Amino acid sequence: MLGKLAKELRMLGYDTLYYRGEDGYPLIKLAREESRVILTRNSKLLPRKPEDRIVRLMDDKPSLQLRELIQKGYVSLNEEKLYSRCLLCNALLDEISRDEAEGKVPDFIFYQHKEFSRCPQCLRIYWPGSHLNHMIEKVKELLASTK
Ligand SMILES: [Zn+2]
Repeated sequence: MLGKLAKELRMLGYDTLYYRGEDGYPLIKLAREESRVILTRNSKLLPRKPEDRIVRLMDDKPSLQLRELIQKGYVSLNEEKLYSRCLLCNALLDEISRDEAEGKVPDFIFYQHKEFSRCPQCLRIYWPGSHLNHMIEKVKELLASTK
């Protein structure tokens, strides 16, 4: 249910796992082992120890979920981390030369962009395109509105 939010968080550079199993103890255990915050829509998923950090998202819409996380202070804008992760795998991207991207991205993209990165797992190529700029604008607006 939080798949779109997971992609948005990765776009912002957050190390985000998408848990597809049943909510419950395995999820809490994984979060403890990897010091993760759990984001959930499930009101029955409750902390069992003081160190368990579980944030229950109130909204169904991804755009409102991101707003909720910003308002609660969990998400901010770190320009250096933007576009550092694969939106699908969560892996850290490798920067590649422009030459390496040639022929692997559409020509108009190749001529418009100088910087490219590649996911070491799925080999998808990324470039800082317009949806990244939209994302930055959106987060800046949300940050400004919560001050
Ligand atoms: Zn990938």
